[in-house]
Amino acid sequence: IRDDNPFKKLNAEFFVYVTKKQKEIDELKRLEQFRREFLADVSHELKTPIFAAQGFIHTLIDGAVDDERVRDKFLSKAAKSLDGLDALVKDLLALSQLETGEIKMNFERVDIRSITQEIFEQLEEIAEAKHTQLRLRTSLPGPIWVKADDQRIRQVMTNLIENAVKYGNENGRVLVSLEEDKKHIIMSVRDDGPGIPPEHLSRIFERFYRVEKSRSKDRGGTGLGLAIVKHILSAHKAKITVMSKVDKGTTFRFKLDKMD
Ligand code: ADP
Repeated sequence: IRDDNPFKKLNAEFFVYVTKKQKEIDELKRLEQFRREFLADVSHELKTPIFAAQGFIHTLIDGAVDDERVRDKFLSKAAKSLDGLDALVKDLLALSQLETGEIKMNFERVDIRSITQEIFEQLEEIAEAKHTQLRLRTSLPGPIWVKADDQRIRQVMTNLIENAVKYGNENGRVLVSLEEDKKHIIMSVRDDGPGIPPEHLSRIFERFYRVEKSRSKDRGGTGLGLAIVKHILSAHKAKITVMSKVDKGTTFRFKLDKMD
């Protein structure tokens, strides 16, 4: 075939077209696979608290209601399962809105120091229950201004600090620190808890991934907290890193753009 043969050009164009279509098909297949897995995960996660609540309520109906002590215990267990269900649905909604980009970030100038202080106050109760010492350390004077979505960054901080308390030791210490480099504020949350074994470290940001399934569920975890953190930070063009040593503790760290 000669170089100026029109069929040769057509052939090349056709090849490009087929390759492009094949890529689109592969992407659709990947999305379909993702959707199927997501649905299976979600159904499984929803089933657990529903079955538990159902079990307690049916046992009450079947007669346990007559014994005051058993009744109170079962009612509070049913309520706990439903609270877990509520948290799960809320986290699922947040994650799905973040994944589809349905919610736009509302960037503004916020004082991360006062946000952290407020979150400390909200978490006081769970920290006290575990005798955890929560501390904020910074060498920066006054308010610390960053560019962030106020509500979303509160969620990031809450999830990280709550995890540090939840998975940390009884009588443990959680240190939140705020430092700066030229352009960023560097925030880190450190605990002195049991740490995360290295084989799990790269997976903890996946939805529903838990290092110790039963322990995480006992502590009211939905398995979505860190997936939400990662999504919110990525919308802030920020990456989160984690360092952990078994029996020593865990540190999560991320940077946010500084503002004057
Ligand atoms: P959960 O809702 O179960 O807490 P997350 O997505 O927030 O889910 O965390 C995923 C898993 O990572 C947790 O189940 C826990 O096993 C582990 N993890 C998270 N933070 C810590 C921490 N500070 N120390 C030890 N393990 C942690």
